[in-house]
This record gives sequence, C-alpha cells and structure tokens, in this order.
Amino acid sequence: MRCGQNATEDSMTVLLPLQRYTDEKSDDEYAFVKALRMSGGVGANSYSANSLLQRRVLSMAKPVLVTNTEEMMMNLNFPNYIKVAELGCSSGQNTFLAISEIINTINVLCQNSNQNPPEIDCCLNDLPENDFNTTFKFVPFFNKEIMMTNQASCFVYGAPGSFYSRLFSRNSLHFIHSSDALHWLSKVPENLENNKENVYISNSSPQSAYKAYLNQFQRDFSMFLTLRSEEIVSNGRMVLTFIGRNTLNSDQFYRDCCHVWTLLSKSLGDLVFEGLVSKPKLDAFNMPFYDPNEQELKEVIQNEGSFEINDLETHGFDLGHSNCDNNEEYNYEAGYNEAKSIRAVTEPMLIAHFGEDVIDILFDKYARHVTQHASCRNKTSVTLVVALTKK
Ligand code: SAH
Repeated sequence: MRCGQNATEDSMTVLLPLQRYTDEKSDDEYAFVKALRMSGGVGANSYSANSLLQRRVLSMAKPVLVTNTEEMMMNLNFPNYIKVAELGCSSGQNTFLAISEIINTINVLCQNSNQNPPEIDCCLNDLPENDFNTTFKFVPFFNKEIMMTNQASCFVYGAPGSFYSRLFSRNSLHFIHSSDALHWLSKVPENLENNKENVYISNSSPQSAYKAYLNQFQRDFSMFLTLRSEEIVSNGRMVLTFIGRNTLNSDQFYRDCCHVWTLLSKSLGDLVFEGLVSKPKLDAFNMPFYDPNEQELKEVIQNEGSFEINDLETHGFDLGHSNCDNNEEYNYEAGYNEAKSIRAVTEPMLIAHFGEDVIDILFDKYARHVTQHASCRNKTSVTLVVALTKK
C-alpha cells in the first residue's frame, strides 16, 4: 500500500519510505531500473566474488576515511554512542571493510586519548532487492574480528531503501560512508530519444544527452545531500567515493573508447548485428548512471549548502591491466576478469531488459572488446573521494 492510502480493517499499514519526487512515466519506460542491484550470492558470477575493483577503491579512500573519523570523534567530544551508516553496502565482504576501518580508528583514537570507547550502531543500507542475506552471513566474522581487536561494542542493522529517500530518524547519525554507489542515479534521465545505440554518453551522443544526464545527477545528488543533512548531527561527517571522470579533457561528452559503458554499447551492438537483440531494444536501454568530474561534484555540494567540503581527491581508476599491453595471454585474462566484474554489477538489469539467454554471449563479446582496448592510455574514468562536514 502506498503512503497516503487508507488502511482497510484487515490490511496492515506499511509505511513506505518518503520519496521526494517520482516519475511514473519514466519508471514504466525504463522498467529494468527496478532490477538495479548487484548479482547476489557467492557464486562465480556474484558481486561478492567479483568486486576486487571496488575493494581497491575502498583502500584509496582509507586515509580520508581515517582522518575524518578521528576529526568527527574529536569535534563531537568523544560521544559514548555513535551511529554509522554504510550506504549502498551491496552483498559480500566489501560491505564491512570501511565499517571495520571506522571502528578500529575510533578504538585506537580512544585508547591514545585515554577515553572510553563508544558503543557503535552500524546500519547497512542498500536497495530492498539487494542480497542482504549474503551480507548478514558475514556478520559473525565481522563481530569476531571486532571483538578480537577492539574494545568498542558494535551492533549491526539492516536499513533497506533508496538513499534518495529518508532512511534514518532526524539528527541520529554521526558518520555516513558510501563507496562506489552514488554514481547510480534514481532513474534514467528523460530526453534521451536521440541517444540511440549508446547505453550512456559517448562521443557520438547529442548535447541533449549530456545535459539530461548532468541534470539528473544534479537533482539526485542534491536531494541525497538534503536528506542526509536531516539525518546527520551537526559536525557529523560523510565520506563518499564515486566513479567520476577527469577534468583534463574539456570536452563534456568525451568518454574514452574503453569506458565501461562504451564497451557495453559495442558488445550489445554486436548482438544486434548478429540478430540476437533487436535494435529498438538496444535503443531503449540507457544506464541510470553518471560520472561527474570534480567541478560538477563541488558545484552541487556548494549549491545545496548543508555541508562543508573537507577533502576532495581524484585518483586513477585502476581496472588492473593498464600496463600489460604486450602480453596477449595476460590481456585475455584481464579482459575476462573485467567482463566478470561488469557482469556482476549489471546482470540483474540486463536480464530484466534483454532476457537471460544473451548474457553469456554478451560478456564474451565484452571480454574481447576489453582485450582489444588494453593498450588505451587516455582513460577518462577516475575515482573521486569527497569528505564533508554537516554545517
Ligand atoms: N559499497 C560496496 C558496493 C558498491 S556497488 C562496495 O564498495 O563494494 C553499489 C551498490 O549501491 C549496489 O549494491 C546497489 O544496489 C546500491 N545502490 C544503487 N542505488 C542505490 C540507491 N538508490 N539506494 C541504495 N543503494 C543503492
């Protein structure tokens, strides 16, 4: 039942999270967006088994995470209770890497400062369709590690829902972390009719496509900041990492030939050529994704106004095979691994739109395209790390 409808006598009232804006037309048009989630379980094609790239991103952000955790504790005068949220936690072990780091940092800081460690609530958020069961199966290992190395007591909770809606009660959070999740938009932007054959912005996209994507990102990220500003205490901290793009190339449209979605467009194009997918089906598929550059990110934060920027860093986006262009066998292996990691991230959406039968062949094509582009040097993708304080 939707919020606002009356409960009948025999139905239970279920309060759905407050979504500040919706667009039914677009939801129907791009029904596959409802399937957005990572591949669950721990099998060969799962996110859990194919998220090394995201693990590297987490380690890049570690120094910023540690510094901001310490500063949060000191600025809040060593509270005896801390509530931490991990947004877009996904399934598998990555979920606990940042949280463990936050808890260790708090514990070491308390020891060094002669303070009692706080009790800590850790709230794991993702979309309701996320495989929380797999994530929760790792909780005993996490608790064991925390108990062995820390004095702080920690309690884990699930918080299913979209981070484009309110998730937590007012002024309840002290620290928010999110890694590799906020480049996912709340929906596919409107006005992409002329962006045919591309699943995202590419060199052949019209200017309207770039504007549509940027506009949707600005609306979504601004909404995200406003919602979080209601949930986090004053002087609370937030550390966020995104897939972004570098600012060296001034052409707004430029996405290199080996951008993950350029390669996906090419691979789907192969399937159209072979008659396995119809062209209108490909034309109707667009990624609910945006990779901002530093400036675009900064502008949204400043215009929204609830947070101050403490750190904003750009790091290389390392898919793990950039220096091996002369080794054919290695390149094939690297292409195959990259295809598996992109598959783990996109498979539920691709199945919802194109059906299950084409997935193996699609990612075989993808692996071949990656291999062919192994020597590309001019990569546009980067990792952005931003740390914010609630004013
Ligand atoms: N943080 C993890 C997972 C990154 S994958 C890591 O670093 O490995 C991105 C996750 O964000 C996915 O699990 C996806 O389901 C989630 N996500 C995407 N949009 C979301 C939204 N609107 N609300 C909550 N989670 C979302």
